[in-house]
Amino acid sequence: MTRIKTSETINKIGETVLIKGWVNNRRNMGKIVFLDVRDRWGILQVVVVPSELDEASQSLIASVRPEFVLAIEGIVQKRGDKQINPDLATGTVELLAKKIEILSEAETPPFEIENEERQANEELRLKYRYLDLRHERMKNNLVLRDKVFAYLSNWLRANDFVEVQTPILSKSTPEGARDYLVPSRLHPGKFFALPQAPQQYKQLLMVAGMDRYFQIAPCFRDEDARADRSPGEFYQLDMEMSFVTQEDILNLVESMMTQMVKELFPEKKMTFEPWPRLDYEEVMKKYGSDKPDLRKNKDDKNELAFAWVVNFPLFMPQTDEDRFVGAGDTWGPAHNMFTMPKEEDIPLLDTDPGKARSYQHDLILNGFEVGGGAVRIHDMKLQEKIWDLIGFTDNQKEQFKHYFEAFKYGVPPHGGIAPGLERLLMVLLGEKNLKEVTAFPLTSDGRDPMMESPSIVAKEQLDELGIAVKK
Ligand code: ASP
Repeated sequence: MTRIKTSETINKIGETVLIKGWVNNRRNMGKIVFLDVRDRWGILQVVVVPSELDEASQSLIASVRPEFVLAIEGIVQKRGDKQINPDLATGTVELLAKKIEILSEAETPPFEIENEERQANEELRLKYRYLDLRHERMKNNLVLRDKVFAYLSNWLRANDFVEVQTPILSKSTPEGARDYLVPSRLHPGKFFALPQAPQQYKQLLMVAGMDRYFQIAPCFRDEDARADRSPGEFYQLDMEMSFVTQEDILNLVESMMTQMVKELFPEKKMTFEPWPRLDYEEVMKKYGSDKPDLRKNKDDKNELAFAWVVNFPLFMPQTDEDRFVGAGDTWGPAHNMFTMPKEEDIPLLDTDPGKARSYQHDLILNGFEVGGGAVRIHDMKLQEKIWDLIGFTDNQKEQFKHYFEAFKYGVPPHGGIAPGLERLLMVLLGEKNLKEVTAFPLTSDGRDPMMESPSIVAKEQLDELGIAVKK
């Protein structure tokens, strides 16, 4: 007999079926035992009456405990009106067990899977993440994550975008964070960097004529964690288009996101349609933040206040983090160093650079920045001027000689954006932390307690790489 999903039982009343899954819980009612059996599609109540079972099953039922993996053959029965459980998708039926097989036994798990209080202990949850993910909310989050990723990729493909995978073994890209370095065995003493974002590659793809690129791109940044910032890695919906204005980019993203929300989250409502374009300076004056929460009712978990913030300054006063961009000591790029200044503000670069505004755009949602992007500089002279203003040394410029080279061969005007997918999901799913929408996240201090990474490696491995670890 082929196994069916627990969710399918509601259409199989009176039929003999086979289900397989985990014991969610066990209730003994005298001779009768109730087992709630869980699979990826839900939970089904199984009624175990010893006299209905074959002999082999009768002898093992006493040993069955929560989280055992079972195969159960039985007859689907309609529940009486009073027995209907409105909290279960299969609450109108139950399975009368005829034959039970134990596929795998289970020890008592380190926390109760159903119990939300397990959330208090991040270490334990991540050490036993495979158990934590058995929780229905976590499982649903992963399923919805896949739905959102698939919707957005399909939408972009339907709108003529092509997904291109750019290298993971890459070179330092200046997005303002520390790089993760990967030593090269073939070139001892040299290192790859994991991409903080595929920024340069996507711009070079525009030079290549791959107008309308996207990628569900893993990005790696060695940063300290916050609830809305993952240590280590996260995914961006990285996009770039040629021959576009800023307004083209904003309109495209707005219609993609709006359709996605309507299709996948019909219970949500948007505060603004169309989304407002807010002036950076005005927003800062009014709210003291460049990502204000613009919901009309902040207690409404279904309200989504998407908005654009534009007219950002090109530069911000230098911060500590900018040193990873290799900048001087006055100006750091407000977004990144490839952002185009507004044409009318280009003269200010010579007189009052702090006043120059740019074609940066941030997508904000309920108090979070869920994406940033810009129209890019496509004129190398202007690019060099910006680099000089942020204090690039000749040595630093040397790191970009491929970029200089590429820009000699015909660059289309271009621009893009990269919504952060976990942050977007966190807001859409009403979660408070990015970890709730990531299958195997790192702890806040950047470790994986399950795999025990990062880990010490064998001396031979280091020798081969020509690396010695300082004590
Ligand atoms: N690469 C940028 C970032 O990671 C996004 C963009 O400008 O498209 O924020």
